[in-house]
Amino acid sequence: MKFRIVDTLIVKRLLAGPHSARRNILACCALVLAMTAFSTSAVPQQVAQPASQSPSSLAPNRPPRASNFQLANPAIEVRVEHLLSQMTLEEKIGQLVQYNDTGDSPTAQAAQAQAASNKGDVIVAVNPVTANHLDVMQLAATGRVGSMLNTIGAERTNTYQHLAVEKSRLHIPLLFGADVIHGYRTVYPIPLGLAATFDPDLVASLAETSAEEATTAGVRWFYSPMVDISRDPRWGRTAEGAGEDPYLGAAMARAYIRGYQGDDLSQPGRVAASVKHFAAYGAAEAGREYNTTDMSEITLRQVYLPPYKAAVEAGAATIMSAFNSLNGMPSSANPFLLSKVLRGEWGFNGFVVSDYTAVMELMNHGIALDPATATRKAITAGVDVDMMSHFYDTQLPELIRTGKVPMSVVDDAVRRVLRVKFATGLFEHPYTEGPEVTSAVDAHRPIVRKGAEESFVLLKNSPLADGAPVLPLSPKHKRIALIGPLADEAGEMVGAWGGAGRNPDIITVRQALAERAQKTGGTLLYTKGTEIDSPSEDGFDDAVKAARDADIAVLALGESSAMSGEAGSRAYLDLPGNQEQLLEAVAATGKPIVLLVFSGRPLVLDWAAKNVSAIMEVWFPGTEAGNAIADVLYGDVTPSGKLPMSFPRAVGQEPLYYNQFPTGRPPIGIDLSKPPGDDSRFFSRYIDVPNDALFPFGYGLSYSTFAYRDVKVSKSSIPLSQARADQGAPLVEATATVTNTGSRTATEVVQCYVRNLGASVEQPVRSLKGFERVTLAPGESKQVSFPLGFNELSFINLENSPAIEATKYTVWIGGSSLADAQAAFEVTALR
Ligand code: BGC
Repeated sequence: MKFRIVDTLIVKRLLAGPHSARRNILACCALVLAMTAFSTSAVPQQVAQPASQSPSSLAPNRPPRASNFQLANPAIEVRVEHLLSQMTLEEKIGQLVQYNDTGDSPTAQAAQAQAASNKGDVIVAVNPVTANHLDVMQLAATGRVGSMLNTIGAERTNTYQHLAVEKSRLHIPLLFGADVIHGYRTVYPIPLGLAATFDPDLVASLAETSAEEATTAGVRWFYSPMVDISRDPRWGRTAEGAGEDPYLGAAMARAYIRGYQGDDLSQPGRVAASVKHFAAYGAAEAGREYNTTDMSEITLRQVYLPPYKAAVEAGAATIMSAFNSLNGMPSSANPFLLSKVLRGEWGFNGFVVSDYTAVMELMNHGIALDPATATRKAITAGVDVDMMSHFYDTQLPELIRTGKVPMSVVDDAVRRVLRVKFATGLFEHPYTEGPEVTSAVDAHRPIVRKGAEESFVLLKNSPLADGAPVLPLSPKHKRIALIGPLADEAGEMVGAWGGAGRNPDIITVRQALAERAQKTGGTLLYTKGTEIDSPSEDGFDDAVKAARDADIAVLALGESSAMSGEAGSRAYLDLPGNQEQLLEAVAATGKPIVLLVFSGRPLVLDWAAKNVSAIMEVWFPGTEAGNAIADVLYGDVTPSGKLPMSFPRAVGQEPLYYNQFPTGRPPIGIDLSKPPGDDSRFFSRYIDVPNDALFPFGYGLSYSTFAYRDVKVSKSSIPLSQARADQGAPLVEATATVTNTGSRTATEVVQCYVRNLGASVEQPVRSLKGFERVTLAPGESKQVSFPLGFNELSFINLENSPAIEATKYTVWIGGSSLADAQAAFEVTALR
């Protein structure tokens, strides 16, 4: 069979809500298109290895245990087998394919495709094989599609569901999935902002609100949480994850799963989670989207895998395989990841869905010369559901007929999908229930506001001439100049995945500060100053005048929502456009400045850090943006957020992260702020910028201050035999006393870091191993304890297994990754 050659291919995607335009992406490159010219028969085929007969090198280390007890239910198993026994091959394959619904009729879609193709430059297609649009309604009515993405809304989902349930032969309901990442109608902060709360309980509660809202619109499956560790803010999807640290990332991963799925997926308001993107997608080289990742297995297991593993252990029902290749093998055809680690070692018993067209992209990766090979590699590696490639349905019948893919592989994949469908209660309740949520929910606003308040990180708060710090604002700040392109832009408050948030529901900073000014008899002077990314300085004079006329200037600067998220990689990490020049012009007035930074990633804030009195990172705060910012600016709420990622001094420091390895030439005792001299050159350093972060991981100020004392460990030595024997129990407890030394009640995120010295493999200079939010009245003290067991003290050894050896440990407890109060203990050798 010959495939059609097309020049370029556009994959059209729909996401309800304000960001639909962003979702039109150029999906393919010339290579895959050239590949489509190959005849399948001309390419030698390899014989498939079914997942169930994987080679012994892929055998699990220990008997797998079902990670999700809801899916391991024998009653479900009986139903799965009964249904499977009645299914034709076409119906089985139907459960393994997923399509979106563009919202247009097939005829309208075909007309659009034709119009685009007439323009000569694009062919609109979700279908690289035939370049025809599919009639998804027809597929639903005949049991030849199992799940749909981005089909949102009670009317639409019920229409498709009706076809699947009433018309198809076996009445198997569709599973509707969507990218509900940080809120559905009531949008909460981006996940990077939520990570700054260090508050997993709050994150679980927020996740629950979005599940409650979206299920009323028929969505029963979230492509969330994204748990990819990212150490490089050039990567735009940094915004969607929990930042650079595996321990924090794992805590956040568990929180989302708990919030979405609860204890019973079949309950109303619960959704199945899809943990993404498996695996190590966040380590894209040079921070460039979709790029290669390459790392040692030790780093993979010690740094990148822990959050996925935590999510699986928490019962995640599904996993999304990533776009990227890992050590030369694309994740969506990677038996090491999908069979050995995920299913073999972790006992994952849900299903794996490919990322969008990731099966097709195996051809771009160059490991498949035709769709049949891509399909065979993906499904035998462990990808159960093909999102949007249109390969499984076109290729599997022939692959099965010729024995290149064993029927058992398809059957196992179908079992996994049906298990999730039974566990979610879809068969009993296929349609939406109750009134559809079509706008922000008032009852959810308070917790969404709290989520935003806790996410803000106060980076700087210098004293003014009278000795008092700039923030919180006080009655002396009667006239406030509010300046900047993000001060009154509702649509920019929600970040890259704004769900189905509606602009009229969103409170901007201008709205909230105007309301405060009205209540307190103050004056708000608002002017935009400039656009987010523009060379025009036309608005500068008005901005400078507003600042001159005011007691204080608040600048709302930063990125647009679209500058982070998917396909939002940046090579520069400065404030975009001429915003820094605007900041400089306003700062030149000599008025006190409060800089609010909106961004989906750490930015380079070097100039601001030197020249501006107060800086607060507010990420993209969501529906309650303005109210939450006003609460913190006015001191109704004291900031408590801590950075989940290091903020660099210069983009050239990236990837920059606190838990780095030591080097053989650490620049100890050397002033790195000065260019090197003869005696300070041959160290691990730059000649033009210090090594450290401008604002490090775990850092964040409060309106109060905290002191740490009595950092202790409960034992000075632990016998190795004990450390190895009891892998569940705490081995030692680290404690510290923290005191609120300021004058207001405030919350501190107390952090515990550990270093392991003397191990057979190099270990990071320190790693987070515990944290706790502690609220203290002025003068109040509390002793905080961190149990440290095998999980916290082990590392991945040269055999790629978790291990504890006879080594020395240092423990630090404090308010950031720079904590200096410490204690020590050791694990002593076997006698
Ligand atoms: C993204 C995923 C997303 C999927 C479905 C992909 O492009 O990488 O994160 O869930 O699209 O919209």
